[in-house]
Amino acid sequence: MFVNKAPIKSYLSVGKSQLQSLIDGLHKLGYQTIGPRIVDGAIVYGELNAISDLPVGYVDWQDGGKYRLEPSDEAGHFDYVVGPDSLKKFLFPARETLLQSIRVDGTWNMATPDPAPHPLAVFGVRSCDLHALAIQDKVFLGGPYVDPGYQSRRNALFVVAVNCRRAAATCFCHSMKTGPAVEGGFDLALTELADRFVVQVGSTRGAEVMTNIEWTACTLQDIDDARSISKTLRDQMRTRAHNAETQRESELPRERHLDTTDIHDLLLDNLEHPRWSQVANRCLACANCTIVCPTCFCSSVSEVSDLSGDNVRRERAWDSCFTAEHSYMNTGTVRKTTASRYRQWLTHKLATWTDQFGTSGCVGCGRCITWCPVGIDLTEEVAAIRGDES
Ligand code: SF4
Ligand code: SF4
Repeated sequence: MFVNKAPIKSYLSVGKSQLQSLIDGLHKLGYQTIGPRIVDGAIVYGELNAISDLPVGYVDWQDGGKYRLEPSDEAGHFDYVVGPDSLKKFLFPARETLLQSIRVDGTWNMATPDPAPHPLAVFGVRSCDLHALAIQDKVFLGGPYVDPGYQSRRNALFVVAVNCRRAAATCFCHSMKTGPAVEGGFDLALTELADRFVVQVGSTRGAEVMTNIEWTACTLQDIDDARSISKTLRDQMRTRAHNAETQRESELPRERHLDTTDIHDLLLDNLEHPRWSQVANRCLACANCTIVCPTCFCSSVSEVSDLSGDNVRRERAWDSCFTAEHSYMNTGTVRKTTASRYRQWLTHKLATWTDQFGTSGCVGCGRCITWCPVGIDLTEEVAAIRGDES
């Protein structure tokens, strides 16, 4: 067996076929491996047992309300960008039992579910999603009340990140300073070169996993080549997003950019701006944007009983500030209009989230733009409120 100890923060050169050894090595350590898969024409996370499970040779095209996958001769293993899934669904499941109550002979027995989750290794996590993970960590672990389910799943998570080589037109991580280069928060980070991967080791667990994989130390040139991929992409994103002329002449979708200058005060000083009603005329209040958002964390809790009434589960399920019920209090629904719900979402995401958690609630992944059925685009909404809509 190949045994080679890699120090943390080292860069390793790994043949492409060794990706299978990495998957197998994680299995040997007891991890279930998850990665990008093509399901119903979109890239989502699913079971990953072989390299052939990956969407090798595919790219995605995204715009407001649009998503399309296409084969490409130039595409490598991870040249799609982000699909509707993120790490959120693994750490904060869409539906979760918090308490199970069973009545036996008139006595209620209550139990919380086993907090020990299966160790999970997720492949293909992008920089924006690592930032989203850090945000959700603050939400679920940062305050005085730690969420035990999230905490145990988080401790069992192994992250194999990937540096993006291309961006969708909906991506604006360069504006939010959340990408495209992966900078931390991973166990291993891959950058795909023409003939191999450069693997950056980010943790002791990552180093342990690499012990049984064939690798050689990267040369300075290898490291430079890997870094220049993210740098070139970031420069391209900035240039394209600021070059309105190119966008007008191009048939490609408009590249996004979000001007975050004084955005907190801009939004809170414009709570009565007419744009809220204008966007509400298009918004279906369907909640897609909040469901696909990797940082949104609203939930509701309900008691679910079987027909006998002897088995009752307390369930937590994802909710959304776009539903009327979410703002229901004893005197009725507080946010009665779609305009007030859209305003709540955007002002929380980009302004009051900072007051609450010390960071923006948006990482610029663009999912809410792509998966909005009517193509509502928060970058356009902020620009309109700022008064620089073209
Ligand atoms: S902004 Fe779009 S995705 Fe969000 S609730 Fe409105 S219609 Fe649905
Ligand atoms: S608000 Fe939209 S762009 Fe920002 S993190 Fe959520 S889904 Fe991504």
